[in-house]
Amino acid sequence: MSMHTCFDEMNERLKPHNAKIKGGFGYDQGNHKLVRTYYVPTEKLDTSVRSKAAPLVLMSHCPFCGTSLDVVA
Ligand SMILES: [Zn+2]
Repeated sequence: MSMHTCFDEMNERLKPHNAKIKGGFGYDQGNHKLVRTYYVPTEKLDTSVRSKAAPLVLMSHCPFCGTSLDVVA
């Protein structure tokens, strides 16, 4: 997935809007390295509950082209 550039291209387009696709870094235990991860946006079912933020859900595939993203479980 080294040649996979959908997220970079989309982030470039979002930059003028002061935004980027929600993501972070995860540790790939198989390859012992840090990998970029992207999250499916989630929101609370009941917004009156003032607990922590809605949980993160990792994308297993690119939402733009369908490429597998080698998600770290
Ligand atoms: Zn893609």
